[in-house]
Amino acid sequence: MKKILCAVVAILLCVCGMTACTDTQTASEQYDIVTTVFPAYDFARAVAGDTLKIKMLITPGGEAHGFAPTLDDLAAVQGCKLFIYTGGPTDAWAAEQFRSGNLDTSRFSAFSMMDHADLLAIPESIEDHTHEHEEHAHDGEYDEHVWTSPANAIRLIEDICEELCVLYPAHADTFRTNATEYTASIRSCEAQMQEIVSNAHNKMLVFEDRFPFVYFCDYFGLSHTAAFGSCAGNTEVSAATLDTLINTIEDNNIPCVLHLEFSKMITADRIVEQTGCKKYEFHSYHNISQEDFDNGITYVDLMLRNIPVLKEALS
Ligand SMILES: [Zn+2]
Repeated sequence: MKKILCAVVAILLCVCGMTACTDTQTASEQYDIVTTVFPAYDFARAVAGDTLKIKMLITPGGEAHGFAPTLDDLAAVQGCKLFIYTGGPTDAWAAEQFRSGNLDTSRFSAFSMMDHADLLAIPESIEDHTHEHEEHAHDGEYDEHVWTSPANAIRLIEDICEELCVLYPAHADTFRTNATEYTASIRSCEAQMQEIVSNAHNKMLVFEDRFPFVYFCDYFGLSHTAAFGSCAGNTEVSAATLDTLINTIEDNNIPCVLHLEFSKMITADRIVEQTGCKKYEFHSYHNISQEDFDNGITYVDLMLRNIPVLKEALS
């Protein structure tokens, strides 16, 4: 049965490769590393440099949550040597493919980012409190956005580096040099953020809806308020939650409300209207725009973008 399935997949891939696929990354292309989210792609790219071929499955500018792999994507994963994924809800499809045997994990190394960090629970959100008679949506679940803490990012890069050194021993020296340089850049950004936090009077960040920053806030000892813990699928903020966000900003003299990349800023705009505070993007590195992707923007570049925002938000 498996053989027949393989043959069908192979035929489909051939047909696709010969005809309609205008995508430059056709299914016949082989990749050394395949990743789901941007941080995994960025860390692997930083370590591998030009030596390896890497594919990010989630399209730049696309919504990371709710991503569903195509047949080409699955073929790319099956053909790679290292597959890096979050291990959380973003790529729950991968775990499902492993379980069902559709993806044969004996033929590549599967690297779950959540297996390489000390996990934190999804924090309680305002929406949890405004629906206090219902069970909390995320009780007992760990948050998957481990990469938002610089310490976790460094550990992930070092662990990805070691994994690649085993898979491609001829390039080990290059990988280790690249990893050392890249983690040094992250440490430099982390030090700038630490200085801002140390000098800040306000230690609270307020987010309009989603909150994938529990690891970031925990690392820097910052408190936080957001409509939703983690990345809720539904980002429709209730009237009661909007009131709580507005009261929090007014009561604590919070200078700005933060929103994620690609946000429609519906809630942020209403908060700005009612409080006169400012709004800024605080990048979660979840995914990047097509323009940033084409320009080779890195995790470190996005950290550098976040630094002045952090300063403003904690002023
Ligand atoms: Zn998320």
